[in-house]
Amino acid sequence: MTPAFDEEQLTRREQTLEFARSELGSQLRDHDRTSTFPREDWHRCGAQGILGSHIPVEYGGQGLDAVTTVLILEALGYGCRDNGLTLGVGGQTWSVQEPILIYGNEEQKQKFLPRLCSGEWIGCHGVSEETSGSDALSLQTTATKTDGGYLLNGRKMYIGMAPVADLALVLANSDPESGKWGVSAFLVETSSPGCSRSEPRAKTGTRTNPMGDLLFEDCFVPDEHLLGGEGIGMSLFTQTISWERAFIHAGHLGAMQHLFERCLKYAKERRQFGQPIGNFQSVSNRIADMRLRLETSRLLMYKVAAMKDAEEDAGIECAMANLHISEALLACATDAVRIHGARGYLEEHGVERQLRDSIGGVIYAGTSDIQRSLITSLLGL
Ligand SMILES: Cc1cc2nc3c(=O)[nH]c(=O)nc-3n(C[C@H](O)[C@H](O)[C@H](O)COP(=O)(O)OP(=O)(O)OC[C@H]3O[C@@H](n4cnc5c(N)ncnc54)[C@H](O)[C@@H]3O)c2cc1C
Repeated sequence: MTPAFDEEQLTRREQTLEFARSELGSQLRDHDRTSTFPREDWHRCGAQGILGSHIPVEYGGQGLDAVTTVLILEALGYGCRDNGLTLGVGGQTWSVQEPILIYGNEEQKQKFLPRLCSGEWIGCHGVSEETSGSDALSLQTTATKTDGGYLLNGRKMYIGMAPVADLALVLANSDPESGKWGVSAFLVETSSPGCSRSEPRAKTGTRTNPMGDLLFEDCFVPDEHLLGGEGIGMSLFTQTISWERAFIHAGHLGAMQHLFERCLKYAKERRQFGQPIGNFQSVSNRIADMRLRLETSRLLMYKVAAMKDAEEDAGIECAMANLHISEALLACATDAVRIHGARGYLEEHGVERQLRDSIGGVIYAGTSDIQRSLITSLLGL
């Protein structure tokens, strides 16, 4: 299947590429070194419409389909070297805005989506906790009913963008006796009394995307901010995470393309033993593998996006896309370091950063092990 994109899709891709190249990531090396969130770049993405690509126009977005949105995020990942920023944009798009779009009532959509699309607000997705990672719905955070709302208590951990987020979509249990069927979803403004955000935690990669904890101590959340009704958490999580697990890696396609082109060029230019290193089969085999991973990743991603637009069930395809694309980028980044030799290992060339940035992809939105077990369970094993 070779996807055929229409004129508008190709134009949007080109515009994003041009924008990302010229306006984003100018201080990336410093930001990576100091783990600084590029807030101005975030606002630029908002002004460019990238934060609202998949959101209907009436809620401040661009009203684009999933295929076009994926092309935009791919172009962002190609034109902008800041993988932390790309991850933040993808995370907000698929794990905060999308659930609000699907499960939110009119008031919630009007209140939150325009602010998120414009970049005025930053959204994060609070699910993981100390004792519940892969087994996400065994979470311990509680939501106790009180007059006019709920009191949240608990701690969310490893939350991307939490230290800078204005809004958190939080899963908490409003009926612990019912186990995971008691999980509900809440839209929590992080300025609410009883809600605090930790400082960013030092981490391996995507350092421009600050990760931290959200702490809730009798944090009052009004009834109007319950998303989709009590006990909806499990279906919200399984439905929206299914798409998120694929689309969160759309930026990876661009990063992979960039790595591939860079390695191909280097293999032609770098000479050892009197000839380009690309003449050595051990190097050229790596380039061939990179190209193959890029091609197969694209096909899987575009297929999933087309299935979303056609409103088809894509459980297996989403898990395969997550597994394949995250592992493909990690393998490409490892190959890129090897191909560049010591240059690949030095911070100043940016190749090692790509390797550090790639590692998280095989963990977030479900580890590779979890994707494999999802695929096999959907196959009836
Ligand atoms: C960069 C990054 C960003 C993140 N952003 C967010 C965020 O925004 N919001 C959020 O809520 N969370 C976020 N997370 C957390 C992420 O969702 C969890 O790390 C992930 O779900 C795995 O949970 P865990 O780290 O507790 O590992 P564990 O679940 O403890 O797993 C440890 C190991 O055991 C394996 N394992 C566990 N269960 C099984 C099983 N059933 N079968 C086979 N193997 C298994 C895992 O594959 C892994 O290798 C982020 C993580 C990273 C790295």
